[in-house]
Amino acid sequence: MSTPVLQVNDLKKHFPIRAGFFGGTTGYVYAVDGVSFDIAKGETLSLVGESGCGKSTVGKAVLRLFDITDGQVILDGQRIDDMPSGTLRPMRRRMQVVFQDPFSSLNPRMRVRDILAEPIRNFGLAKDAAELEAKVAGLMDKVRLPRDAVGRWPHEFSGGQRQRIGIARALAAEPDLIICDEAVSALDVSVKAQIVNLLQDLQRELGLALLFISHDLAIVEHMTHRVAVMYLGKIVEVAPKRSLFAAPKHPYTEALLSAVPVPEPGAARERIILKGDVPSPINPPKGCRFHTRCPYAFDRCRVEEPPLRPVADALGEGHVAACHLHDLPAEQNPLAGSKGAAILAHA
Ligand code: SF4
Repeated sequence: MSTPVLQVNDLKKHFPIRAGFFGGTTGYVYAVDGVSFDIAKGETLSLVGESGCGKSTVGKAVLRLFDITDGQVILDGQRIDDMPSGTLRPMRRRMQVVFQDPFSSLNPRMRVRDILAEPIRNFGLAKDAAELEAKVAGLMDKVRLPRDAVGRWPHEFSGGQRQRIGIARALAAEPDLIICDEAVSALDVSVKAQIVNLLQDLQRELGLALLFISHDLAIVEHMTHRVAVMYLGKIVEVAPKRSLFAAPKHPYTEALLSAVPVPEPGAARERIILKGDVPSPINPPKGCRFHTRCPYAFDRCRVEEPPLRPVADALGEGHVAACHLHDLPAEQNPLAGSKGAAILAHA
């Protein structure tokens, strides 16, 4: 098996809470608390969960926007979480990001030509002005914008076009991995679909690995290969898309999926409304972190944290979940079957 483009091992990011005149640490926000996954060349892994679950913090940690508390981030076999900034620079080129808000992430005082030329120059990817100009033109072609639009300013474009410029800027660095942090969340439905299609085409053409961070499972269902579900700083389930959407093996995933519209007229999924709010990441619940909201919680859940481990899946391999239900006999496990299989017909 080839080396994954990205490996994240037991990643932790605990933000200190400081108080008082001397700013002493009074506690921690356990934003990310032991997250592991990998992404292969040409693969999309979606990281999903409610707002505040830690998924964007994972993306920022991978990008080394801050130091992590513990764990490892490995890019193409090289550990980057403890790399000094001088050595890190060429590795930074290989992982780029597309943010949610294309307007605020593009410098309004730079024309598109300069926005795209900047990473090419910074990373020394063109030997002269002619090659630079050719690369900028090629990027416009890749994101399906007219070449003559390079002289325009960001405010002269629509939201979808600005996101294409954001993608072109990410591609300008010739990366192996692109982190899309809610990259289509702010767009209209039809524009969302166009940007998702563009990302898929670019992935096929360039073999890009994509970490797609999103709360929108309907979009995720269309574009991902695998899904990792996060709850309160931890991954609770990882599976290939078809397995996860057909037969979720964690009660939290089951509840998230119940809110995704079924694309067949007349078809309906029973909506599971979770009780209560997401607990504070400052003081996460003992045992299973989901037990305060889980409709199936039993005594063991309140005292013992379930590990992420392989679970039986009729559709194939590679399905892991962190839930004690899978230690029960199948007839007592509400997630043992494939209750969502009907959805597969539309995948
Ligand atoms: Fe629910 Fe218990 Fe499974 Fe946690 S371990 S998800 S509380 S059934």
